[in-house]
Amino acid sequence: MAESYTVLALKYRPRRFADLVGQPHIVGALSNAIATNRVAHAFLLTGSRGTGKTTTARILASALNCPNRQGAEPCGECPSCVQIAQGEDLDVIEMDAASNSRVDDIRERLQTVETRPARGRYRVFIIDEVHMLSTSAFNALLKTVEEPPPHVKFILATTNPEKIPETILSRCQRYDFRRVTVSEIVTRLEQVCANEGAEPGPGLLRAVAELVEGGLRDALSRLDQLFAFCGLKPTVEDAERVFGLVSRPRLLELLEALGKGDSKSGILFTEEVFESGKDVAEVLASLVSLTRSLLLVAASGGDAKGLDVPADEVPRLTAVAQTFGIHGLVYVAELLTDCRNRVRRAAFPRVVVETTLVKLSLVGRLEPLQELMTRLNHAADSSEPRTESPPPATEPGKRPLSEREQAAVNALKRQFGAR
Ligand SMILES: [Zn+2]
Repeated sequence: MAESYTVLALKYRPRRFADLVGQPHIVGALSNAIATNRVAHAFLLTGSRGTGKTTTARILASALNCPNRQGAEPCGECPSCVQIAQGEDLDVIEMDAASNSRVDDIRERLQTVETRPARGRYRVFIIDEVHMLSTSAFNALLKTVEEPPPHVKFILATTNPEKIPETILSRCQRYDFRRVTVSEIVTRLEQVCANEGAEPGPGLLRAVAELVEGGLRDALSRLDQLFAFCGLKPTVEDAERVFGLVSRPRLLELLEALGKGDSKSGILFTEEVFESGKDVAEVLASLVSLTRSLLLVAASGGDAKGLDVPADEVPRLTAVAQTFGIHGLVYVAELLTDCRNRVRRAAFPRVVVETTLVKLSLVGRLEPLQELMTRLNHAADSSEPRTESPPPATEPGKRPLSEREQAAVNALKRQFGAR
């Protein structure tokens, strides 16, 4: 490989609205604003990392300045479009607030705000991670955002909109980027692989997409890594090795066992993960992702059409979901997410994982509170001597109370004078 290698995320960075993945609501609104020439003077693009905020900012800047625009789409070929895509255009000033958070940094950039654009119609200021600005820097920015010269547009991008002062927020048109779905990421990765002449093994792209929590850029970086380590025919096993993962079938097997109350399987699994040097946080992320699939399947009541789940997995997922029940799954998702948040900082991460998995093995046995109340009420009513009618036919899963439970109910009734 004599030529220099361009990372996939850069090589396949969209240059037109039409190429943005997974943000149709934003593409629609921005295209419409540009096509009808009703463009706000300040934009706020929010969303988690790798969802396309900076890319969109550049496309928007291109669209504003491209002399050969077609509808809302920039041509992608004129000097303005080319230089904006490379981050080198004179009229588009990009600044990363994470490393330039001081008031002097922002003042320096804004000094030129009155200068007329060199080539295009607008001078566009793109400020990435804008929430990192200091208070005084925000104040300096606010002055200009309040009353910008007509040839100036601001595009602010952030992963933490709640950290931005209300005074700035209220002056921006806000666009919320959503996480890209697993299926959308898979489709994009397929296109990239086809273009690169790569032949990913079965299930690989989905495994990668499951890892990245809706960030397309991360997915492309993972693919880069796989190509670098394993060549152009990477398999699921390669991904498990390179990223320190546990395979999805193995995770499903674990949840299946835990759903049946097998707490030992949780302890053995923890040992397996820690002994083999897997990345614990990644394994937990995969478990969270798998639990989400279970929840989707459970909530859809068996109709998996349109779900973000592979069709061939549905029967197995449905079976495992049933062992937990939908209430249980919500709890499982909470426990796993909490465990993942704590595990990196924990003094004894192994114990954190073990206790979580043992808790999961108890979830299948928990009865939803509502059902428990109904059953208790029912039992309390039917134990009244005046109740002559036979108890209604018991549904499966709603067995009559045992002697001990009955005694407890009677004791409660005596104590509280239950009706
Ligand atoms: Zn152009």
